[in-house]
This record gives sequence, C-alpha cells and structure tokens, in this order.
Amino acid sequence: VDTEYIHRLYPIAVEAAKRITFSTTQAVFGFTNSNNIGEIFYTSIQAAPAFLPSVESAEPVPVLIPCGIDQDPHFRIARDVAPRLGYPKPALIHNKLLPALTGPAGKMSASIPESSIFTSDSIGEAKKKVQNAFTGGRATVEEQRRLGANPDVCSVFAFYNFVFEPDDEHLGVVERTCRSGERLCGDCKLELWGKIETWMTKHKEARERARDRIEEFVVRD
Ligand code: SF4
Repeated sequence: VDTEYIHRLYPIAVEAAKRITFSTTQAVFGFTNSNNIGEIFYTSIQAAPAFLPSVESAEPVPVLIPCGIDQDPHFRIARDVAPRLGYPKPALIHNKLLPALTGPAGKMSASIPESSIFTSDSIGEAKKKVQNAFTGGRATVEEQRRLGANPDVCSVFAFYNFVFEPDDEHLGVVERTCRSGERLCGDCKLELWGKIETWMTKHKEARERARDRIEEFVVRD
C-alpha cells in the first residue's frame, strides 16, 4: 500500500469520515457486518483528493474528477458531504475503460503485467504483450477467412479504437476487414505494434526529458 502521501490527505479524509455514517455505506455498497473497517473508511480516502485543491488554496475550488464507473458511488457520497464540509461538490466525468490485453473478462492491473502495456515497459516487453494479446480471431486461418473474426471482444481492436487509431476511416477499414475475414490477427497485431512502438519510443524520450521536472507536478509532504 502506497501511503507516502497520506499525510496531506488524511486530515481531509477524517473530516469526511465524520460525516459518512455506516448506514450510508451499507445502503450504497451493500456492506454487512463482515466487511472490514478499511472498506467502510475507504470512501473517505477516495473523496479526499476532490477537496484537496480547496484545502490547499484556502478557498472553494470546483474540481472535475475523471473516474471509472466503479468509483462513482464513492464520489456520490463525496458530493453529499461536500456542502457540509464547505467545499464545492465534485463533478464527475466517467471514463470508458480500456479492456485488459488478456481479454474482456480481465481487468488491467499493475499486479498482472500481461494485462496491460505500461509506459515503463521495455520495447521488447511491450511487443511480446501485443503478440500475446487476446483477440476475436478464429482457431485457424482457413476458418477466419471463411467466417471472419469478432472485433467486439478483441483487445487489439480496443487498442486501435481507444488510443492508436485517430483516423475513423481507417478504424472502419480495420473493423470491416476483421469481420469479413480479409484481415488476419497476426498482421493486425503487427500493424498495431508499429503504432505502439512509434508512440512508446517518443514517450520514452519525452519521459527522460521530463525526469528533472517531476517535482514540479508532485505534491509532497
Ligand atoms: S483481425 Fe485484428 S481486430 Fe480482428 S480479431 Fe484479429 S486482432 Fe482483433
């Protein structure tokens, strides 16, 4: 657990916690007596960054929180307690989550390295992950040519769609040729990898240039 920066957030979390009852967490999350007290307190921690800019500036600062739909209940409770703490209610923008490279049933997670490409991965590691990514392809080339593949469940297609294909027209071509069987998964992965490699190479260079500037963007205790 990374608690290095909790010093700044903890006093805010405690203030939020005083205004969130156990019955609220039960009603929102379905908690029972067997849930641990960390889960019950967790919403307070989750809410704290929404109020941090107001605390730091000593005046009400509206915030927009980008989050996954699974985090929505925490911030709904945060919106309820915000006026009682004297802070503006946080506004939310819900992100669509990029599915894991391991397939739609999985979740991207730092503890499952093959589930995602990390910007800290080496070029070799990232390439291997793309090669092993879950696809909507068929068992054999012959079958895929005949029946087509399914981009709706394909992690590779999701990467094109979410990040690496800004041209809708070409995205349409990828989808159409996938469904028709003109496109095979190996070639499709290679094409995607070309885009990822270009991006990663540039990102690694930019990351090196930014190395000395990190402190400008981190709030430390
Ligand atoms: S052809 Fe491409 S988009 Fe279609 S299933 Fe295979 S990898 Fe996915």
